[in-house]
Amino acid sequence: MKLTGIAASEGVAVGPAFVPASGRPEAERYRITQDEVEPELQRFKKAAEAVAGKLAETGEELRVSGHEEEAGIFEFHVEMAEDPELASAVEERIGNLESPEAAVLAVGEEYAAELAAMDEYMAARADDVRDVAGQISARLMGKGFSGLETLETPSIVLARSLAPSDTARIKEGIALGFVTAEGSRTSHVSIMARSMGIPAVVGVGAALEGALGAEEVALDGSEGYAIVDPGEDTVAQFQKKSAALIEERAVLEEYRHVEASTGEGRRIEVAANLGSASEAEDALEWGAEGVGLFRTEFLFMQRDDLPSEDEQYEAYSAVARAFGEKPVIIRTLDVGGDKDLPGVDQASEQNPFLGWRGIRMSLDTPELFGPQLRAILRAAAHGHLKVMFPMVADVGELEAAKAMLQECLGELESEGKRVGEVEIGVMIETPAAAICAAGLAKESDFFSIGTNDLVQYTLAADRGHERLRRLQNADHPAVLALIQQTCEAANAAGIPVGVCGEAAGEPEMIPKLIRLGVTELSMGAPSIPRAKKVVSEL
Ligand code: PEP
Ligand code: MG
Repeated sequence: MKLTGIAASEGVAVGPAFVPASGRPEAERYRITQDEVEPELQRFKKAAEAVAGKLAETGEELRVSGHEEEAGIFEFHVEMAEDPELASAVEERIGNLESPEAAVLAVGEEYAAELAAMDEYMAARADDVRDVAGQISARLMGKGFSGLETLETPSIVLARSLAPSDTARIKEGIALGFVTAEGSRTSHVSIMARSMGIPAVVGVGAALEGALGAEEVALDGSEGYAIVDPGEDTVAQFQKKSAALIEERAVLEEYRHVEASTGEGRRIEVAANLGSASEAEDALEWGAEGVGLFRTEFLFMQRDDLPSEDEQYEAYSAVARAFGEKPVIIRTLDVGGDKDLPGVDQASEQNPFLGWRGIRMSLDTPELFGPQLRAILRAAAHGHLKVMFPMVADVGELEAAKAMLQECLGELESEGKRVGEVEIGVMIETPAAAICAAGLAKESDFFSIGTNDLVQYTLAADRGHERLRRLQNADHPAVLALIQQTCEAANAAGIPVGVCGEAAGEPEMIPKLIRLGVTELSMGAPSIPRAKKVVSEL
């Protein structure tokens, strides 16, 4: 039996299957009496506090052992366990004589459904809320939750979903891989698998139900499928794949810290795309020669209110310091499209990707844009920062953004604040920007091509639409022509041109991009060694 899903974390594994005993607890449904309301409210409160305490403890352990990103996930879990709105919704149900075990699960489901209807980032948090509610409910029932902590034999874990609290409880080296029915590449099970360096296939759907009795599983996280109870031939095939991967990884190790040049001696800088300051150290270890794209909107999206200028300054300075002399490109807010911003009133749009996003929104909201530019200018005193504007469609927008930057610089200087110099760049991700590249180049210090959006706008194919895979491809003559035009304009103006869309990390695209004149590639950090190897072999 073959399960097909999303290739969430690369690698292959064959091993015994393990299905967590309880998955999610079945709530004990019973009615309580009016007299029991008060004691049950107290019981719920205590269980929520105990779960929050345990989660905070696990988060702290992860932080101390240097796992910042995972620790951040637990912070969110603690917030959920302590959330006053969630608590009062549960209390209301208990007041209506529902059992606390069932009440907390029902409220968790309601919250999760609300999150799932939001953007991709929030939807990925829905499982976290279910997980926390499940833990409180399990505690009320006096049950352990997943049974994963008792696992001793190295195994492939099969589950409907796996929450960070599940994966964190598995002893080191015991999980050989994950297969889940739910999830996307941005769900936490995928993030965790990638950071644990084990293969994962997520989103296999209802087919998983038929595999829960499996004894053995062969898992290919690079291709996105798993074979249940594989025969000898399949196992032999997987062993071959595994040997080839181990060999490839050993070879790639040697490339982590090389400065990649093509056979003709063209130096290509290979940098990392970051979503938060906490990813900086990891990126450096993978061999990042800089940051080609810091997506600042994630800093704004991980919370309900807007980060202050000082908070942004801290985050940008942290990355600048970590990278020292290496260049770090901070992209100003790219909100809109599929990314909403909590704390900002955004009217719903018929075509969000063709709507009020990126620089359009920033120029219209100086109260957001100003503090961000000020934070970048101040952080530039601590390293080699560059600023980049997203979704630019004409020279006028670039001029307006530069004027705003100049204004902020003037303010900071008159306030006597320390600032650093920043180079100014434009993302080339609208066909208009590519076509007007010569004009934009005169006003810019660098270009970075955002192939993810450039492809969707050029081919009129929504980048997230599951039926348009054929068109979600930078290797299309129209897209390549626009990249070429951009590179020619950059070359003529003597400015560097990078690519920070997903195409930059794809081995088959790298030679084409370099041939067209691209001088820098920026990608998810684990792809860096392979990209350097591809460049070196050109
Ligand atoms: C792009 O569009 O290629 C890009 C890198 O930006 P984002 O994926 O954040 O839209
Ligand atoms: Mg983009």
